[in-house]
Amino acid sequence: MGRLLSPRRLQAIRKGCLDVCLNDCYGNVVVQDRDHKFLTRAVEEAYKGVENGDGGPFGAVVVRNDEIVVSCHNMVLNHTDPTAHAEVTAVREACKKLNRIELSDCEIYASCEPCPMCFGAIHLSRIKRLVYGAKAEAAIAIGFDDFIADALRGTGHYQKANLEIKKADGNGAMIAEQVFEKTKAKFSMY
Ligand SMILES: [Zn+2]
Repeated sequence: MGRLLSPRRLQAIRKGCLDVCLNDCYGNVVVQDRDHKFLTRAVEEAYKGVENGDGGPFGAVVVRNDEIVVSCHNMVLNHTDPTAHAEVTAVREACKKLNRIELSDCEIYASCEPCPMCFGAIHLSRIKRLVYGAKAEAAIAIGFDDFIADALRGTGHYQKANLEIKKADGNGAMIAEQVFEKTKAKFSMY
């Protein structure tokens, strides 16, 4: 980008402390690349889930210390379970894998904006950061339930300040929104 890094940001990068970078205003190239990488993985999961016939086109990835803990997709059909959304499945699997009931040192990347149930699960798990790709409207447009987490939009009175929420933009948002168009012929609505 040709922009000089501030001493503070350089120091943060050297320390591997990206959280500091997330919250300041000194450019965000490193963080965007990182977010894009994990969001892409969530989008890949969405495709995989449909290919496998496991459920709807939704993926979620839990990340801890820059490493993927679990990478999951919607399992509603596979598990015959209407609550087996990608994010809920990812929270369950990550807790099982880490053998604990809170994920406060983790982030979650979701191919689509989480529904209220998943948003609730993310809160209960104390995940510190959520990055999502497609807007809920993209899922609604192909016939999924039209319920949207008011809290996620910043209008819910129960919104907690300890969860950072980021909506992907640019290419990240585009590849995530394409999931619905590209998979809609391959699965039946439930
Ligand atoms: Zn959900």
